[in-house]
Amino acid sequence: MELNEKIIELGKKAEKEVQKEFEKIDELCEEHSLQVLNAFQKYHISDIHFNSTTGYGYSDVGRDTIEKVFAEVLHAEDALVRSQFISGTHALTVALFAFLRPNDIMLSISGKPYDTLDEVIGLVDNKSSLKSYGVKYEQIDMANNDFNYDEIRKRVEKQDIKLIEIQRSRGYSLRNSITLDKMEKVIKVIREVNKKVIIMVDNCYGEFVDKIEPTQIGADIIVGSLIKNLGGGIAPNGAYIAGKKELVELAAERLTAPGLGKEVGPTIGINKQILQGLFFAPSVVASSLKTAVFASKLLEDLGFKPNPKYNEKRTDIVQTIEFGDSEKLIAFCQGIQMGSPIDSDAIPEPWDMPGYTDKVIMAAGAFTQGSSIELSCDAPIRPPYIAFLQGGLTYQYGKLGVLKAVSNLEVRG
Ligand SMILES: *Cc1c(COP(=O)(O)O)cnc(C)c1O
Repeated sequence: MELNEKIIELGKKAEKEVQKEFEKIDELCEEHSLQVLNAFQKYHISDIHFNSTTGYGYSDVGRDTIEKVFAEVLHAEDALVRSQFISGTHALTVALFAFLRPNDIMLSISGKPYDTLDEVIGLVDNKSSLKSYGVKYEQIDMANNDFNYDEIRKRVEKQDIKLIEIQRSRGYSLRNSITLDKMEKVIKVIREVNKKVIIMVDNCYGEFVDKIEPTQIGADIIVGSLIKNLGGGIAPNGAYIAGKKELVELAAERLTAPGLGKEVGPTIGINKQILQGLFFAPSVVASSLKTAVFASKLLEDLGFKPNPKYNEKRTDIVQTIEFGDSEKLIAFCQGIQMGSPIDSDAIPEPWDMPGYTDKVIMAAGAFTQGSSIELSCDAPIRPPYIAFLQGGLTYQYGKLGVLKAVSNLEVRG
């Protein structure tokens, strides 16, 4: 893999200047590693939990224990951790359909949710949307990267909202990701006037990035994908829903069938990978964070606009870089692909993807299809031409990928 000499030198300089951030990330990694280890020991994880079931998947002791370990690590009463979830979107969909009934109102307080939820909610027509079942949707936008606390208080005071959705990571929107101190503040505001409303957090990309999780500041239920943070690059697929026991049970009955719930679900050989993935997750999240910090500094030095800045507080593993130009954006994404271990000679192009409105370019040379805990970069092709960079199974591979992407920018002038 050819790298530009000048870029390597700039990389070395950037790396020196971010060492303080790296130290903080190492500390965080150690804390989460201890939590994971404690959870494994508390539930006496042993060879028996690597066993597999087929068919209905009755009495899968590995699966049931994995769910206890995840609940422990996520500070939740209970968790549903299943490979029958196809993706994060699927888990969010199962949760929403599990909790909402006809005429119920769902309120998003972090602006428009992630693009793939448009058809789930019914913002884009779909015959199977929540809207088609008579579930109503309302939204309160964020302003100046913060919640609109007054409007939220006024709206939830009326006691007719069934579920509030908060999306921690920014998705493809221009707002910042939501730090947990802001989330805590808004949950306090909500609870002052409304004790019943279900508070659900889309926790995708957020796990193990902060010292605590949204469940520790009053979120009732959190949802995330196993081909992101908690899968540690090892889980082959799946997602989780964790939080209040009664809500997790509702979600289970929706994922399988009423009356079956959590009792069924064959694991077909993946228990060990799920456990090993969680075991690696603190370190893989740390590598992703270091890759993001490094990219932020290097691209800022080169005159582009990164968000967050290298020394700003992070709440997810996503690093955005504003290129202001579609060709530079595409060259950077293609360079990330060139720096990947898998399919490095494929050249990604902007394409119409299911669930997305604009054309999207997706660079991912990953062991697991679509895995974005592995170094990956994607971008909707619309102004101001922002790349969303995330992942990195190890910092060294992450850094090399970023250096290759910047070299490709240089090659294209
Ligand atoms: C990744 C992600 C999702 C779910 O995406 P899938 O690709 O379906 O797993 C939902 N919300 C946010 C904020 C995400 O980053």
